[in-house]
Amino acid sequence: MLDLSNEQFKVGMYIRLSREDGDKQESESISNQRNILQRYVKEKNLTLVKEYIDDGISGTTFNRPGFNEMLQDIENKNINMVITKDLSRLGRDYIKTGFYIEEYFPKNNVRYIAITDDIDTYLDSNNNDITPFKAIMNDMYAKDISKKIRSVYKEKQKQGEYLCSTTAYGYKKHPSIRNKLVVDRKLQGIVKKIFDMYSNGQGSLEIVNYLNSHQYLSPLGYRKTGVIQDENKTGYNWNEVTICNMLRNEVYIGNTVQNKKSVISYKVKKIRTVEKENQIRVNNTHEPIIDKDTFEKVQCILKKRGTNTKLKYDYLLRGLLYCYHCKRKLQIVLKKNSKRNSKAHPYITCSDAKVRGCYPLSMNYEKLEKHITSILKKICKIYADKEVFERIYEKYQNKTLDIKIDYRNKLLQINKNINEINSNLDKMYIDKLKGVLQEEDYIRISKKLIFERTKLNEQKKELIQKLSKTEEKVDNKNRKKEIEELIENFLKLEKIDKMYLYRLINKIEIDKDKNIYIYFNFSKLNSMAKNMDEFIRIEELISEKNVY
Ligand SMILES: [Zn+2]
Repeated sequence: MLDLSNEQFKVGMYIRLSREDGDKQESESISNQRNILQRYVKEKNLTLVKEYIDDGISGTTFNRPGFNEMLQDIENKNINMVITKDLSRLGRDYIKTGFYIEEYFPKNNVRYIAITDDIDTYLDSNNNDITPFKAIMNDMYAKDISKKIRSVYKEKQKQGEYLCSTTAYGYKKHPSIRNKLVVDRKLQGIVKKIFDMYSNGQGSLEIVNYLNSHQYLSPLGYRKTGVIQDENKTGYNWNEVTICNMLRNEVYIGNTVQNKKSVISYKVKKIRTVEKENQIRVNNTHEPIIDKDTFEKVQCILKKRGTNTKLKYDYLLRGLLYCYHCKRKLQIVLKKNSKRNSKAHPYITCSDAKVRGCYPLSMNYEKLEKHITSILKKICKIYADKEVFERIYEKYQNKTLDIKIDYRNKLLQINKNINEINSNLDKMYIDKLKGVLQEEDYIRISKKLIFERTKLNEQKKELIQKLSKTEEKVDNKNRKKEIEELIENFLKLEKIDKMYLYRLINKIEIDKDKNIYIYFNFSKLNSMAKNMDEFIRIEELISEKNVY
């Protein structure tokens, strides 16, 4: 180190204050630090060049604007001395603080003084030997404070207090109650619109296009400008990620979910996602914008649609195909033909075949997709043609009615037979008592009759089950309107959209013989699918007649 007189030292005063570090006492305030440093400079006859302040930045990081400015001045040789009130003002990270004191400052011929800790790198003082130890203390202190702050936060979150600095689009902070959300009435309608569009089968991209073409500013844009809709909007566009995050956010049904992201440690400020079970969820903390049914429906569509962006192709039927036997989801895998240089084709297979010995289904996916879409179009077309549909459906209803009557008649007959057996058993018992019937004959015949009765009872149970299955669930009016709109839109599509498919179809099961069972979300369509061949045949008959 150079041998300089005090006047030759060009001093940079470094001041740092951070509430995050627990600097609450007046002794740590900026003005107090400044007073101490100025007094020192005056007393020691030093030359003050500049004051560097980092207000509100933790000592656990060294990436602070004031600190960086100071380093720049050191490198430009504008200063050759740094003073701080104490060591912890310089930093609370032991390793990095040590680096500046023991390496950086000496290398750049900078004298460092921490006044209240009696550290002066210019003097060969014993105090300097405890510098590393002091730094460790500061480091531990930071760790402790960081823990304390986090536990206070968690406690408040458990009480349902809303602690994020920003609010979800559609909400604002309560004007008088701290940490409480209220609905932002101006945005309520647009949030509803987004959920309605998605639950009615429109995709996130369609919603983004709608919002952007209607000049709505993104949530960020609204936060920054306070403007919801602007004719001359430039930038602040919506994107699919924002929409999907909104659609998943339980805030809209009145719940507060916090601790979703957490900082790994007080030193490494990397953020990781917290597992769902460790998140802090409090229900009904504020007024909802979206009703629970709509929210559930949206979650259902989101889940089925999946967010697997890694896949190159997203197969139309992915997520809908199930194994008829083990009821597990079927996999779509790429397989090459045995022929050389052939292209790989997607095949459907039961993932359970190898593990638990389910049927090793191997089915060409592309063919299946074509088949399913043609069936769907057919069903929707018949349904959309009201006149045709009602006529066929009536016929079908009549047919089920016939089946029902048949079941009922069979059931009556079985009941009659059971009653007969019972009365015979009674008569035989009396005959036995009278001595008309021998004991061993009685046992033999009654055994036979009881066996018959058991068989009849089994048949009866089976029939009752069948009968209840034929009871058609009646779609209510809302459902009817929903399905009509859905089918109308579906038929307008040039290319079948996954969203519509998910709303129409619940699942598709395939069995080992490659029979396909389509389960719709609407009972009328289900009965059509079951009797598809007949529907198509009658429809053809009717349309042939229409030609005349
Ligand atoms: Zn299976």
